[in-house]
Amino acid sequence: MSTTTKDDMTLLSSSHNKRRRNEKEGDEKTATTVTTNNNTNDTGTSRDYYFDSYAHHGIHEEMLKDTVRTETYKNAILNNKHLFRDKIVLDVGCGTGILSMFAAQAGAKHVYAIDCSDIVTKAKEIISLNGYDDSITVMKGKVEDTTELPNLKTFSTDNKVDIIISEWMGYFLLYESMLDTVLHARDKWLVPQNGIIFPDKATMYLCGVEDGMVKRDRIDFWSNVYGFDMSPIRDVALHEPIVDVIDSKQIITDTVPIFSVDLLTCSRASSKEYNNVNSFQSNFQLVTTRDDFLHGLISYFECEFTQVHAQTLRLSTSPFCHYTHWKQTVFYLQDVLTICENDDIVGVIDCKPNPNNDRDLDIQIQLVINGKFINNYQTQMMYRLR
Ligand code: SAH
Repeated sequence: MSTTTKDDMTLLSSSHNKRRRNEKEGDEKTATTVTTNNNTNDTGTSRDYYFDSYAHHGIHEEMLKDTVRTETYKNAILNNKHLFRDKIVLDVGCGTGILSMFAAQAGAKHVYAIDCSDIVTKAKEIISLNGYDDSITVMKGKVEDTTELPNLKTFSTDNKVDIIISEWMGYFLLYESMLDTVLHARDKWLVPQNGIIFPDKATMYLCGVEDGMVKRDRIDFWSNVYGFDMSPIRDVALHEPIVDVIDSKQIITDTVPIFSVDLLTCSRASSKEYNNVNSFQSNFQLVTTRDDFLHGLISYFECEFTQVHAQTLRLSTSPFCHYTHWKQTVFYLQDVLTICENDDIVGVIDCKPNPNNDRDLDIQIQLVINGKFINNYQTQMMYRLR
C-alpha cells in the first residue's frame, strides 16, 4: 500500500524528475526561504523544496548512489593526488560536499565549496563531522554572485585557484544551464596557465532508436483513453523529450557527435545567434544498421577528465554503458518509419534556451530520410525540455 501524501508527491516530482531545477522563480524563492535550526529539525516544507529542490536530501541521495557518476569523480581525484597536493580547489555547486572532501583527502591545501541551495547547511555539518573544517571553506550563494573567496590571498599569491571541480551536467547535458556557471568561475578564479577543470570536456551524441513499446505507452496512449480520444495531450507529450533508459539493443543507427565543449578553452559567448553556451546547431548524418522500425532519436553525453595521469577518464551516459541517473533523452517522431539497413538519415538539430525561461531548452530536429522503402521523407519536430 502506498502511503504517499500529496506533499510527498510534490517532493518526489521536484526532487527526482527535475535533476537540475533550482530557484524556479527568484522572487518566490525569497518568500519561501528555508530556515534550518541547529537542532537539525528541518523546517522546510514541500513548497520550499519545490523552489529549491537541491535542499532536499533525496536528489543528493540519487546522485551519490549513482556509482558511475560518483566513482568516476572519486577516481579522477584520489588517483591523481599529485595534481591536488598543496593546491587550491574550487568546488562549483558542492551539494553535500562530497567532491570537496575527495579533494581534501587528495591533499589539497584548501578547498572552497560553494552552493546556492540550502543543502550547504548540511554540507557544512558534514565537513565538520568528517574533520575537514580547516581545509574546506563552505559558502552559500550563487557562484555568479560570489565576489571573493575568503583568505584566498593567504593561500595563493595571485588570488586564483589551481583546480575547479564541478558536477554540472544536466539531462541532455545542457538542461538547466550550469555549464555557464562553471565557465564563469573559470574566468574569474582559475589560474590562467595550467589550470585544471574536472571534467574538462563534454560531448553529446545522437542516434536512432526502435522504441515502439514505450512510444505506444507514453505517446499513443493518449489517442484512446478508456474509449475517449485525448489526442490533444498526445500532441503535447510528443513534443516533450522523455528521459528514460534505452537498451543498447534498441539502437538501430550509427552514432554521431552533435555538440562538444572544451571547458578549458571555450568562450562563454560563441556567436551572435548562438550567444549562450547552452545553444548549438549541428548537421548530422546517420546510417541505419539493420532492418527495423524507427520511432525516434536519442541523445546521451560523455564527459572526459583529460588532465588526469596516463589515460583519460570518461564518464559515459551511453546506453552501451552502465546505468546513470541521467539515463538517455528520447525524441519521438510523429510517424513510425520502416527502415532497412544502410538507409540514410540526414538532419539538423538546433538547441536554444527558451526566450521566456532560459532554464528550458527549445530543441528543433529536421530530418530527411531516404532508403529502400522510404523516398525523401521529411519532417521537422519542435521539442521543449522543461
Ligand atoms: N557536487 C555535488 C552536487 C552536484 S549537483 C555532487 O557531486 O554530489 C549541482 C549542485 O550545484 C546543486 O547542489 C545546486 O544547488 C548547485 N548549483 C546550481 N547552480 C548553482 C550556482 N549558480 N551557484 C552555486 N551553486 C549552484
